Amino acid sequence: MSHLVLSQLTKTYAGGSDAVRGVSFMATQGEFIVLVGPSGCGKSTTLRMIAGLEEATSGDILIGGKRVNDLAPKDRDVAMVFQNYALYPHLSVYENIAFPLLIKKTDKAIIDREVRSVAELLSINRLLDRKPKELSGGERQRVALGRAIVRKPQVFLFDEPLSNLDAALRTEMRAELKSLQQRLGTTMVYVTHDQTEAMTMGDTIVVMNKGLVEQTGSPREIYETPKTAFVARFLGAPTINMIKGTLKTIGENTLFTSGGFSIPIAGISVEDNREVFLGIRPESFMVGTCSTDSNATIEGTVLLVERLGSVTHCYIEYPSAERGKIAATLIHHETKPQIGDRMSIIVREQGLHIFDAATGVRL
Ligand code: ADP
Repeated sequence: MSHLVLSQLTKTYAGGSDAVRGVSFMATQGEFIVLVGPSGCGKSTTLRMIAGLEEATSGDILIGGKRVNDLAPKDRDVAMVFQNYALYPHLSVYENIAFPLLIKKTDKAIIDREVRSVAELLSINRLLDRKPKELSGGERQRVALGRAIVRKPQVFLFDEPLSNLDAALRTEMRAELKSLQQRLGTTMVYVTHDQTEAMTMGDTIVVMNKGLVEQTGSPREIYETPKTAFVARFLGAPTINMIKGTLKTIGENTLFTSGGFSIPIAGISVEDNREVFLGIRPESFMVGTCSTDSNATIEGTVLLVERLGSVTHCYIEYPSAERGKIAATLIHHETKPQIGDRMSIIVREQGLHIFDAATGVRL
C-alpha cells in the first residue's frame, strides 16, 4: 500500500503566483523520493504542504491512508530538516536532540535512552555536552538529523539538507544519509536542485519544472528514457548534446538529418520533415582514430579538455548543436586530445533521444 500519496496538489499564493500545479506522486513505506528541479519550480512549497507549514489550495495529502490536509503540523507525524539546521544555540547537543520528546512530555528515562541511541547511530555521542557553536558544519547537520530521527516519524521531509556543507563532506553525508534512511526504513521526501544527489540517493525521482511534474521514475529510467527535453537536459553532466534537425522518411526507415550529418533512428515513424532535437549523451560517442565514411561522424576543433582522472570531457566546436559545441566523454582512452586539435567522433545508433522541437516531448 502507498504510505504517502499526493494527489493533484496545488498551491496558489496570495498575489496569484501558481507555485505548484496539480502535483501527484506516491511513496511506499520506506521509499526514498527525491523532488528535483531548478530553483523556483515548487519543490519547497510541495514539501511545506506535506509538513503542514503551507496550506494546499486544492488536492489531497494522505499519510498511512489518512488525509492529513486539515491536521496541524505537529499532528501529521512528519519530521522536517532544513538547509539551515536551526539548532537552539543556548541548548547542548543532548538538549537539542531531546527537545521534540520534552515537548511531548516523554518520561525522562525514555528520553535519555532515545537520545543516547540516536547519538550512537549518528556517531555524535562524544559531543552531547557541547553547544552548537562548538560544532563543525557536518556535526551540526548530524544533530539536526538526530532531532528528526528521535521523533520516529512516519515520514522524513528534508529540504536541501546538505547544501551548506563543503563538497567532500556533502559526498560523505550523501552516502551516510542514504544508508541511515535504509536502516531506519522511514519514508523520505528529499528536496534538492542537485542532480547528483537526486541520481545517487533516490529510489524514485520526481522532476519538477514550473510547478508541474515533468517525469517520475527510477534514476535509471529518468536518465535513459527522459520524457521531455527538459528532463534530458536537467540530469547528466556534462549536459546532453542537442542537435536541431529534421526527420526524413526514406522507404521504411527514418533518418535524422542536420546539415551534412545524418543517422538512422530506429522505432520512430512520424510525418516527413518533422522538426526535432536529437539528444546524444556525452558518453554515447566512439572516437574515430582514422577518418570514416559514416555520415554519423561529428568533426570539429577541440575547444576545451577537462581531465577528471578516470574520464576526460572534450568539447568540440559544432555550430548546429546547442551552445555551438558537442561534449564527448572519453573513458580510459588512448588518445590525449589537446585544445585546437581536429577531432572526429562517431555517434552510436543506440541510446539516441528524439524530442519534438516545438513541444520538447519525446517521440
Ligand atoms: P523551489 O523550492 O523549487 O526553489 P519554491 O517552492 O520555493 O521553489 O517556490 C515556487 C514559486 O513560488 C516561486 O516562484 C516562488 O517565488 C513562489 N513563492 C514561494 N513562496 C512564496 C510566498 N510565500 N509567497 C508568494 N510566492 C511564493
